[in-house]
Amino acid sequence: MARLQLNKVTKIYDQNIYATKDLSFEVNDKEFAVLVGPSGCGKTTALRLIAGLEELSSGEIYIDGNCVNDISPKDRNVAMVFQNYALYPHMSVFDNMAFGLKMRKYPKNEIKKRVYETAEILGINDLLKRKPKQLSGGQRQRVAVGRAIVRQPKLFLFDEPLSNLDARLRVQMRAELARLHRKLKATIIYVTHDQIEAMTLGQKIIVLKDGEIQQVADPGVLYREPKNSFVAGFIGSPPMNFITGIIKKKARRITFENMDLNLQLNNEFAKYIGQEIMIGIRPADFSTEKGSAIKIMIDVVEPLGNEHYIYGRRGKVALSACIPEGKTPQTGELFTLMIEPAKIYKFDAKNKQALK
Ligand code: ATP
Repeated sequence: MARLQLNKVTKIYDQNIYATKDLSFEVNDKEFAVLVGPSGCGKTTALRLIAGLEELSSGEIYIDGNCVNDISPKDRNVAMVFQNYALYPHMSVFDNMAFGLKMRKYPKNEIKKRVYETAEILGINDLLKRKPKQLSGGQRQRVAVGRAIVRQPKLFLFDEPLSNLDARLRVQMRAELARLHRKLKATIIYVTHDQIEAMTLGQKIIVLKDGEIQQVADPGVLYREPKNSFVAGFIGSPPMNFITGIIKKKARRITFENMDLNLQLNNEFAKYIGQEIMIGIRPADFSTEKGSAIKIMIDVVEPLGNEHYIYGRRGKVALSACIPEGKTPQTGELFTLMIEPAKIYKFDAKNKQALK
């Protein structure tokens, strides 16, 4: 397996479109790295650059310390699993999995051995004679993964491999991929727009926006120490609540100017008195028992079993919260949410960077 390094990788398409801009990050041997971000942020382009399917505008890509800028895709020893699986419809599962090895002129016995071993790992031994159209979405997905595994590549590149599956199967395949990663001890770079997939699979998560890296971190750090309001809002569901205002001191409380919101804040906020800042509160960080109180008028309640999402307003401020079952208010009720000051995130109102 292998180590990947990107150094200031930039891809400019026609008309001066920067698909990726100065991407620099490393993926360690056997690491599961996820590139995540909204549609159009450059995830697929980054993956295609690593695979050698696109030419770089500038920067370098290294695999195991060797610059691969001028190495053709077939000689990079990487295997890509595409969103649409790209299986050959007229070939059996066996032949689909064997195809890459046949093209590389591997001996027949070796091909057979690798395909059978991989089919065993993926639990698709019974499907080897079938054609892709005789398979379910999840089975096709396994075949596409199998085709990558038989090649024993240095790097596995996955481009939104679960997005064609229904919600239940996606959760199941997600766990299977995590298991497979442990079993294969493979270096994986995985692209998704789904932050839950990123958080559950990624040991290292690279958050992209408009072709630029916003933060590289493990799931815990990304959630608790987001570098800016984009990362804070992108990671976590329902998304973080943001409120911007000039903080004013009134008695021992702080009032967001022009907003009917009084919050008891800790000393860390003292230095921002008189300044405009943006605060962030995660819906799951609200409590019904301790902290500074905010009364909101409830307009939507989403019961999800053990917890309920509630949405409401305080003047012009819209807020959402996750509330345990049994504490849930009714629509139209005035409800008190509480937040501990230490759980409130702070961002610069202008450049949106986290304030320490
Ligand atoms: P999605 O999640 O929608 O697949 P993405 O994050 O994978 O998006 P990319 O497909 O990498 O994004 O595209 C990044 C940017 O580059 C977008 O603005 C896109 O319109 C642009 N782009 C992609 N391919 C080309 C191309 N061949 N020519 C011109 N611009 C392109």
